[in-house]
Amino acid sequence: MKKITIAIDGHSSCGKSTMAKSLAREIGYIYIDTGAMYRAVTLYCIENNLITEDGINEKALKEQLPNVRVDFQQDPETKLPLTHLNGRNVEREIRTMAVSTKVSPVAALGFVREAMVRQQQLMGEQKGIVMDGRDVGTVIFPNAELKIFVTASAEIRAQRRYDELTAKGETCNYEEILKNVLERDHIDSTRAVSPLRKADDAIELDNSHMTIPEQKEWLLARFNEAAQK
Ligand code: C5P
Repeated sequence: MKKITIAIDGHSSCGKSTMAKSLAREIGYIYIDTGAMYRAVTLYCIENNLITEDGINEKALKEQLPNVRVDFQQDPETKLPLTHLNGRNVEREIRTMAVSTKVSPVAALGFVREAMVRQQQLMGEQKGIVMDGRDVGTVIFPNAELKIFVTASAEIRAQRRYDELTAKGETCNYEEILKNVLERDHIDSTRAVSPLRKADDAIELDNSHMTIPEQKEWLLARFNEAAQK
């Protein structure tokens, strides 16, 4: 079977990564979480005091960005990719609320997007990739053979994020998470550079009332159709 490119875009916390990861494992493709890359840059900004009450120090970030290396290394046990920032495993830190509340303004900066998109396109050059994010089907790989746009109600997405953080032992508040989900949707969809939108040729999936196995089965069926074309 020929190798294809699979673009999975959609709103925050709608389970894109879970679906994308499990498909990649099943079909032996590389999985790239583009949101993790923006989260890692945001963590860099926080740790280097580039985000203050006055906003993001864009000038300093622009200067330092060439030295901010984000890549993925496979967990030897789970075989899942772990996000690394300048060689350090930051997989856990980038998922905290501290990063979630700051990431969308960082991801809205044109020069940050340019640098990330360049790397993402290189990662997918050989095809055989499942990439999830906001602009995979519209900007990174507009010619992807399979494009999916995932959504679910904001309340369901907030509940999923709450369950995920609680399971990891993080103390969190549902209302605060819902506010963050809505805020990120707003910033992601209204930003000037590469706003979140469904590509014209993407297949839409509202997974509000689907179980994870149901989503997995649905996605595998779409993959088989696309790969055989
Ligand atoms: O996918 P995740 O929710 O982890 O992404 C975190 C944030 O990174 C999003 O809210 C969005 O602001 C940004 N993002 C983006 N473009 C992508 C992936 C994520 O702007 N391709």
